[in-house]
Amino acid sequence: MQYYSTNGKAPIANLEKAVVKGLAEDRGLYMPQEVKRLPKVFFDNIQDMKFQDIAYNVASAFFGEDVDGDALQDLVYDTLSFDCPVVKVTDNIYSLELFHGPTLAFKDVGARFMARLLQYFIKQEGQQELVNVLVATSGDTGSAVANGFLGVEGIHVYVLYPKGKVSPIQECQFTTLGKNITAVEVDGVFDDCQALVKSAFMDEELNQHMKLTSANSINVARFLPQAFYYFNAYARMKQQGLADNLVMCVPSGNFGNICAALFGHAMGLPVKRFIAANNANDIFYKYLQTGKYEPKPSVQTLANAMDVGDPSNFARIINLYSENGQLTGEATHHRITNLISGATYTDEQIRQTMRQCFAETKYVLDPHGACGYQALADGLLPGEVGVFCETAHPAKFKEKVDDILGIDVKIPARLRAFMEGEKQSVAMSKDFADFKQYLLKQ
Ligand SMILES: *Cc1c(COP(=O)(O)O)cnc(C)c1O
Repeated sequence: MQYYSTNGKAPIANLEKAVVKGLAEDRGLYMPQEVKRLPKVFFDNIQDMKFQDIAYNVASAFFGEDVDGDALQDLVYDTLSFDCPVVKVTDNIYSLELFHGPTLAFKDVGARFMARLLQYFIKQEGQQELVNVLVATSGDTGSAVANGFLGVEGIHVYVLYPKGKVSPIQECQFTTLGKNITAVEVDGVFDDCQALVKSAFMDEELNQHMKLTSANSINVARFLPQAFYYFNAYARMKQQGLADNLVMCVPSGNFGNICAALFGHAMGLPVKRFIAANNANDIFYKYLQTGKYEPKPSVQTLANAMDVGDPSNFARIINLYSENGQLTGEATHHRITNLISGATYTDEQIRQTMRQCFAETKYVLDPHGACGYQALADGLLPGEVGVFCETAHPAKFKEKVDDILGIDVKIPARLRAFMEGEKQSVAMSKDFADFKQYLLKQ
């Protein structure tokens, strides 16, 4: 499969280049040149298939031309070592729990998949040189990437995070791992971490000294595998005879997750329509209403993994519905609003939703999932059945959830195990010269 850039000014890339580079030369995002429709027989039998096999079919459509079949199957099975159940919350609203992975985040799947795909390409080429992944995190991405790459031979990961600015639960998920994961505690804020990573990629001397790559969330190997979730959710709903008028609702920040769902739809997944649920960062919501995309600085909310003021995957969504730029802005907007609607919620509404849902159903929503649940509660039409993504385990936001609901959310054993590990990190100033010296010594 060939990949083109959403900005249209970079050379076409193969999968390996798209994965290793992440971003195209013209700063655009890579898009597969073709979205293959899956055969009718696949959808006819999907309800009898298990998650891993469904995912392997989907993965073959994306990556089958570039990755040997057995290796791809192994990669998919290794990535999906856990379940993503669909849980009934009300008569017509179901929760797709994407938080049963190693760090209780839906980003685990993309991170692990990318790690194994990178490893596959390294082995193919018989590369001896260590590949170094640099990733800046404000919390969640670092833990998913660190755990996804943990123990993967030939790759070393440096996670840069702002000192004192990530929650203790998040911090322990990437500072206690050891092995091929190094946590770098930067005396600064998230933007300083990101600046250090960017400077490192641009520094010639450093790039001659060591092979550097990123594990950014816009990477095709990180976002496309999230499509697996939606095919599996459809299968589990169909199994129960509930898939005829399905509405999928995705709490969105950078719009990678919903973009993967939309790729699934383009591959033939029979979902009637989608809802993008936002917190107070309502840029996409406004775009749906007005046809104008006006990014602005993000505002802090309770659902902080969705605090994004300029969602990177917006360009991919536009591309998907503009026939490679053949359609005008208005025609594209029309196609998008025909399929996707939006919703936006303030922190006060999120709290209210969490309380009401818990009082009526005993289901504990986290602040991100709450946006998804409420968008369905507000937007479902008669005869429709809604599935929203519960994107984070409530224990990951324990202080907030306990406080809002007046309960004591149980911390899953997997999370507790991280908290018992010993924290190890390298202290770093926000000065690039220091970071460079450190890397040159590795
Ligand atoms: C990353 C994240 C989101 C947003 O997903 P996008 O793919 O960026 O839209 C939502 N909820 C949680 C808990 C997340 O970690």
